[in-house]
Amino acid sequence: MKLMRLGLIVAGLALLLGAAVFFFYLPARVDNQMNVVVDHPVYAISEEARALHAEIPVADLHADTLLWARDPARRHDRGHTDLPRLGEGGVFLQVFASVTKTPSNLNYNENTSDSDDITLLAIAQRWPVDTWGSLYNRARFHARRLNRLAEESDGRFIVARTSGDVASALEARETDSGIMVGILATEGAHPLEGDLANIQRLYDEGYRVIGLQHFFDNELGGSLHGTSGVGLTDFGREAVTAMVERGLIIDVAHSSEAVVRDVLELTDAPLIVSHTGIRSLCESPRNIPDELLQQIADRGGLIGIGFWADVICYDTPAGVARAIAYAAETLGVDAIALGSDFDGTVTTRFDASELAALTDALIGTGMSADDIRAVMGENAVRFFTENLPEG
Ligand SMILES: [Zn+2]
Repeated sequence: MKLMRLGLIVAGLALLLGAAVFFFYLPARVDNQMNVVVDHPVYAISEEARALHAEIPVADLHADTLLWARDPARRHDRGHTDLPRLGEGGVFLQVFASVTKTPSNLNYNENTSDSDDITLLAIAQRWPVDTWGSLYNRARFHARRLNRLAEESDGRFIVARTSGDVASALEARETDSGIMVGILATEGAHPLEGDLANIQRLYDEGYRVIGLQHFFDNELGGSLHGTSGVGLTDFGREAVTAMVERGLIIDVAHSSEAVVRDVLELTDAPLIVSHTGIRSLCESPRNIPDELLQQIADRGGLIGIGFWADVICYDTPAGVARAIAYAAETLGVDAIALGSDFDGTVTTRFDASELAALTDALIGTGMSADDIRAVMGENAVRFFTENLPEG
């Protein structure tokens, strides 16, 4: 009898230990292994670069920080971004994406929609139970996380919902350089769960950018890394039309080429490709043909250049600068922005706090100060000032 009781105690302790590992140790470990900054010596930054960087309202079109069990209000030594590191990097505007479903064995060529790793992550990270089985609730949870961050920031971090929010924050930044705005985006429109009524609900939660696809084909159409390669479905057409009418900005990063063509045909609204490389510079199944990027650029859209090697081939500050300079030269400087994909399970050579190294490297490419200001932030600030709903 005594032995049995001992056995139960041991089993109970093992269960507790297992739970502690699953709920506390594992999420941090996964985060640490998936969002890597390669060890590097401190980047030397010239006085000229430092001065130029300090003038720029740096803007970035894509980070997946909300996916991880890290409080963005505090500085961390894992992952790529949090508000303190964004501040150190001179960031004024950051688009925060909501990742709600990712297939197992993620790759750039072909993924089905049958599996989902986010469910396990949601449980392990102790997200609310209603997020475990609902992609819409996951997106709502991410939005509320960012909105709470703003509420607790004493007005220094604003979730921008209108063009006026961006304009007034930019003005406030003249006296307080720490003022920052976040913009909410979905990475894939599967949180609609096939229901057009969810467009308004996402809008009300604060979403202003809708990425149509992520790694798998969804109700709206084909992914660049799905199985079908198809364009917009009937539901996708209806949804895109309704989103544009509502004042939402469409992001076609991860969409199939056919979807990009269909969206370009369906609407004149300026589009973004939030995080990508340029195929003619770096051949990758993650990059759509230049010709599509050119159409997006020509219509007042925005192309965010990624910081990771899969899309730009070289991920040092000089490598990222090379990709940005190339994009500016081929697509037109006004269309180019940063699209870090920080915290998006990528490996980079610098984190958000080190963005001045990119300004330094851009000077090294021979780009003019005006063009550097444009690509490092002014283009994106202008884009959102012009394209977010008025209010
Ligand atoms: Zn992505």
